[in-house]
Amino acid sequence: MVYVTRKMHFSAAHRLFNPTFSHEKNEQIFDKCNNPLGHGHNYTLEVTVKGMPDPETGYVIDLKKLRDIIEDNVVDKVDHKHLNYDVDFLQGIIPTAENLAIRFWSILEPKITSGTLHSIKLFESDQNFVEYFGEPVSIPVYNHESALNREVMS
Ligand SMILES: [Zn+2]
Repeated sequence: MVYVTRKMHFSAAHRLFNPTFSHEKNEQIFDKCNNPLGHGHNYTLEVTVKGMPDPETGYVIDLKKLRDIIEDNVVDKVDHKHLNYDVDFLQGIIPTAENLAIRFWSILEPKITSGTLHSIKLFESDQNFVEYFGEPVSIPVYNHESALNREVMS
């Protein structure tokens, strides 16, 4: 088995908050990432595919094709966007690196037809990254829109 990886970059804004928490608790838990109008990160995404090299090409997956799959299905949809509001497949989830990696997996896994998806590694900074290997996990979905309205009105 050989593991091949494509690295991609994107920049995006997010705000981490849980609408069921008080303002104080959100601030305490999410700190800078709870900034009301969001703030930005330069993300690095590493997608690893495993498989046996094709005997005729020597490739597990053509890395140009892997790049196109990641670009078309993930990077183009999140780059320079506000992750809480602009991205269909992230609506209502708390956009931590953990939850982004889980959602990216569910989008990319069915698109990869040479080899199989092995891991999603997502760096939120040079120091902080998460890695996901596809174990089943469910992400709570909140109604951010109503939470935003509540905050604006209170
Ligand atoms: Zn942040």
